[in-house]
Amino acid sequence: MRILIIEDEFNLADVIAARLRQEHYEAEICQDGDEGLYLASAGIYDLILLDVMLPGKDGFEILRELRQQGMRSKIIMLTARSMLEDKLEGLEHGANDYITKPFHMDELMARVHIQMSSPESCQEQNQLTYGDLSLDTSNLKLTSRTA
Ligand code: CA
Repeated sequence: MRILIIEDEFNLADVIAARLRQEHYEAEICQDGDEGLYLASAGIYDLILLDVMLPGKDGFEILRELRQQGMRSKIIMLTARSMLEDKLEGLEHGANDYITKPFHMDELMARVHIQMSSPESCQEQNQLTYGDLSLDTSNLKLTSRTA
């Protein structure tokens, strides 16, 4: 399984890549938004870890363009900002998950494993569920199964 890390803080990207390789994933690092979009567009990655603040295009622009192209790789946003609007913007534009910096590497790996072990979520990437609640991120409609 191939993972692309688009992150301009090299030390962080390097630590993430080393950990992913330990867990037998192939990991590549890209430190620039424009190049990141180009690489990600190739569609050869199972998962993309996408930073928000990047030189060149930012993470949200990359996310939007990839989803507009119909690119189905799983995407986890790495955001330094914990603002609710940022999280919603990412999920609204098709991110599968997000994690707020600074994060514990074990938490990131847990989120990576979840994405890598749910192939069916390609069709349902607009649906987030929690208990009986389901959020359609394409229109932010919240529904409850018990209602
Ligand atoms: Ca950054």
